[in-house]
Amino acid sequence: MEIAKLTDWGLSEDQIKPLIIAGPCSAESEEQVLATARGLAAINVPIFRAGIWKPRTRPGSFEGVGAIGLQWLKKVKEETGMMTAIEVANPTHVFEAIKTGVDILWIGARTAVNPFAIQEIADSLQGMDIPVMLKNPVNPDIDLWVGGLERLHNAGLTKLAALHRGFSGLENSPLRNEPQWQLPIELRRRLPNLPLICDPSHICGRKDLLSSISQKALDLDYQGLMIETHCDPENAKSDKDQQISPDVLKHILDGLVIRNTKTDDVNFQRELAELRTGIDRLDTSLLELLGKRMEVAQHIGELKKANNITVLQSGRWDEIVKRVHMRAVKYGFSDEFTDTLFKAIHQESIRLQEEIMN
Ligand code: PEP
Ligand code: MN
Repeated sequence: MEIAKLTDWGLSEDQIKPLIIAGPCSAESEEQVLATARGLAAINVPIFRAGIWKPRTRPGSFEGVGAIGLQWLKKVKEETGMMTAIEVANPTHVFEAIKTGVDILWIGARTAVNPFAIQEIADSLQGMDIPVMLKNPVNPDIDLWVGGLERLHNAGLTKLAALHRGFSGLENSPLRNEPQWQLPIELRRRLPNLPLICDPSHICGRKDLLSSISQKALDLDYQGLMIETHCDPENAKSDKDQQISPDVLKHILDGLVIRNTKTDDVNFQRELAELRTGIDRLDTSLLELLGKRMEVAQHIGELKKANNITVLQSGRWDEIVKRVHMRAVKYGFSDEFTDTLFKAIHQESIRLQEEIMN
């Protein structure tokens, strides 16, 4: 995929270290939009975001002000010089946005799950040069995310970016949406030139974790952050728990550590290369060990087959889970890691045993 650089969006090098996009969840009134924009312009935020049409989970919640809000964004642009960005969910939204000079569009997480909707939006953008950011779909499906980007790219758009806002379905977590960092990491592997922007607001759903999630994203080499900001967060009409004032945003941004992706320091490079050789060796040993474990599992498969015994012995699986969790404690692994690792190993054992039995 041919993907334009963020500087091709009309941003300067200074504005993309990292790129900050901020503004309210929803445009609510001309006063609220302009007051928020002034606060953000004062701290040099280059892109102002606002939701005009809001995809709400249940009807009856605030569903956005509609096209009138686009006039307010026009004023933001005239008065502050900031670029403006809105969410579009259908060709009518696209048409209205382009007509009023919105600079950047994004497609929301609920729209991103629907290939028909993305295709319609892509078709309506055919031949245009506008930057479009695609949020991850609410369900953790990397192919759907990539597929959406491909649809946009096939329509001739090259100024593309991915917005990571987390995945729904979290229980017992302080976060609103599960980050599942391995998905954007895999997206980066597949599309290395695609700018990746984190939306910590929708991942967190609260203010106090914004800074740590933002830092994590920067440490994972994200190119930007989109953070919901409101001039009067306590009275916001949507997502009030996660919105912060421009002052608080400044405080968070000032506290972020911006690291380099590389260095010319030869000592660092030598030491890193040595450690990585060590990692590669250990990975080989891990594979060898897993191979041996699978061989034993295959013998067990043969034994079960000969005795006409089911592949899954749930009591045994429970025993393994308890045992490995107890032992993993001493290595400081998270429960989630131990769980994921052994589920994957167990699944593969089952697959191999199935192969033997059938
Ligand atoms: C938003 O950015 O305000 C929004 C609706 O986000 P998402 O599509 O990620 O839920
Ligand atoms: Mn929101």
